[in-house]
Amino acid sequence: MYNLLNRIHKGVSEEIKLVFLTEDVFGYIFFVLGGSNFIYRVIINKKFQKCNCEDYYNHNFLCKHILFILFKVVRVYRFDFNNNIFLRREDYKLQKNIKYSLKSFLFNNKFPDLDWYLFKKYLGKLKVKENYFILDLHDKFKEHYRKYNYLARKNLKRVSVQCPICKDKTKYAVKCDICKSYFHVECIFTWLNKIVTKRCPICRSSCWETIYPYYHFIKNDKIPLDLIK
Ligand SMILES: [Zn+2]
Ligand SMILES: [Zn+2]
Ligand SMILES: [Zn+2]
Repeated sequence: MYNLLNRIHKGVSEEIKLVFLTEDVFGYIFFVLGGSNFIYRVIINKKFQKCNCEDYYNHNFLCKHILFILFKVVRVYRFDFNNNIFLRREDYKLQKNIKYSLKSFLFNNKFPDLDWYLFKKYLGKLKVKENYFILDLHDKFKEHYRKYNYLARKNLKRVSVQCPICKDKTKYAVKCDICKSYFHVECIFTWLNKIVTKRCPICRSSCWETIYPYYHFIKNDKIPLDLIK
């Protein structure tokens, strides 16, 4: 059973930290460290919010990491636990005693215009000094992410060709720098995981060595904290 209040509670009270924040074509991207020492990727834009944690995959809906961003970091909303009501932060400040059910937000996962405007406004005022932010990890993560964008992301493409490993058609694939073969992300990393030399299954070149360290990003997996430290 999906319990939203329970998740909001976890989002604001558990040991969750913000590691890094950036923006790309999908929207605002927040990298969030959970209690289990994994870093999750939360995407927030006006039309949808996504996370790569198990809870999100199971329910396809707001997980504690997304709610951590909305209720604790950017604080578009706050939850009044005494009266069991949601409020926009703005409404709370104005002492407007309106019951704001977040209906349009919660039922179609879309920000209402005003809420989205407020989200961007508060985000612009965000200070990295706040206690939900881990500064020492921030710089290391930023460098890792920069390298991923520079070394690996360019090899990812939405393309329909035959994957040389499983012979099925690809939708989203990763390219070998040398032989230009496109592989399913799953197929090539399953292959590379098995072999020490990280050589291409087609051309035997060692070009995958530079891409391999970023495979958590490429597969959109949660990232073990140890990888960044
Ligand atoms: Zn999550
Ligand atoms: Zn394949
Ligand atoms: Zn190759």
